[in-house]
Order: sequence, then C-alpha cells, then structure tokens
Amino acid sequence: MRERLVVGNWKMNPPTIADAVSLARAVARAHHGAVSVAVAPPFVAIPAVADALAGSDIAVYAQDVHWEERGAYTSQIAASMLRGLAVGSIVGHSEVRRDLGDDDGRVAKKVLRALAADLRVVLCVGESEDEFEHDETDAVLERQVRAVVRSVGSSQGRLIIAYEPIWAIGTGRPATAEHAAKAAAKIRNVLRDEGLAAEDIRVLYGGSVSSITVGDFAGARGIDGALVGGASLKADEFAAIVHAFG
Ligand code: PEP
Repeated sequence: MRERLVVGNWKMNPPTIADAVSLARAVARAHHGAVSVAVAPPFVAIPAVADALAGSDIAVYAQDVHWEERGAYTSQIAASMLRGLAVGSIVGHSEVRRDLGDDDGRVAKKVLRALAADLRVVLCVGESEDEFEHDETDAVLERQVRAVVRSVGSSQGRLIIAYEPIWAIGTGRPATAEHAAKAAAKIRNVLRDEGLAAEDIRVLYGGSVSSITVGDFAGARGIDGALVGGASLKADEFAAIVHAFG
C-alpha cells in the first residue's frame, strides 16, 4: 500500500521569510490527517521554516538541487547542504527546465546526487501543450522517466514521480482524472520496464489542483497524491486538498 503524499511547492513565494514561517505554522495547525504532507519553500526560507515545523508532521523539501557537490557553481545549492534542513527535493520542475535550461541529462544527474545525499526526490515529468495536442504524452513520459530512473537502483524507495502536464500548471485548467490516470499507468510501465518496483513508487498529479478540482485526482487510479503550486499558499485551501486524499 503506497502512502499518500501532498507536497506544496511555494515557488518564489511568499514575499518574506517571516511570511513563510507564518504560512508554515498555519499549514501545521490545519493538518490533522493520515496523509503525508510536505512544503517546499524557497531556499532562503528553508532554515526558518524547518525550525517552525520541527516537531510537526510536515516535512520540508527544497525546490531543486545542483548535480555537483562543491565548486564554481554560482547561485547553486548542493544536495548535502540541505542535510538537517530538508528531507527531500523537487527535481526537474518544468519551470526550472524552462528558465534554467535543465534537460533530461541534468535532471538525471540532479536526481542521482539528491538520492546519494539521502534525500527523497519528487521528479517532475510532463508534456507541453503542443505535445499534448499532438498526442505525444506517452512518448514524452517515456523519454523523461527512462532518462532518470536507469541508475536509481536501490534508492528507488526515496523516489516519487509527479506527473505535471505543463499546460495545466498555473492555468486553472487541470488535466482530466482519466488523462492523469493514463499518464500514471504509462510512468509505471516505464519503471517496470527499467526493473524498478513500480507498484511501490508513488506517482503524484500536479497542475491546477485546488479544493474544487482535487476530488477527481483523489479518486484517480494510480495517483497517490498531489504536487500543489498556487493553492498551497493558502493554508485552508491546502488543508482541504490534503483532506481529500485522506
Ligand atoms: C506546480 O508548479 O508544481 C503546480 C502544480 O502549480 P499549480 O498548482 O499552481 O498549477
């Protein structure tokens, strides 16, 4: 039985570290359930948020890590620097692929580095609008998942995959539950084909999940939780999403 998980991706929000701490406290106050919950604040807010959430059931994730451990990589954060602060990291988010030039090769290196540092990884995969319209979702998922999971081996217990169709992120236009379930099945086929224990690896859905749309995904076959952007910035809204998966 896979434990359900809801992760709030705060992106470049909220505006101050004090606001991040308030949000973290509100998320912890609103959480009373069996579902695993995590928040991913911006790097600068991670220490304060980790401190605010110490002793709670809410885990802290980073939004990215670098693929190297040390060196001349201005602005970057090594996976090992998160030790004691975060238990995991998002990797391969489409906004990082878009804005910072991450490709499948870099994402694969980042995932391996994060796993080697004992972090959990939420690996984001998903097709663009154009690829969706040309019925290329399966081909994109096959490429993105295969590129990464090949060398994951015994760390697979800490790997989580988030199916995030790019056209659904922040648009208020989520995928249908049927499309998400098909994508989850495709992802597990690739995992199985690569020799991983696909039935044990959690697959989340992300893309305009809200308290209104979450019911569809909470009931979708093969979907074990959500990666939530905009709606994770309001504690009550986020709590309603978490509750739907409980
Ligand atoms: C995301 O960026 O991971 C995301 C799912 O965003 P939103 O929920 O705002 O669509």
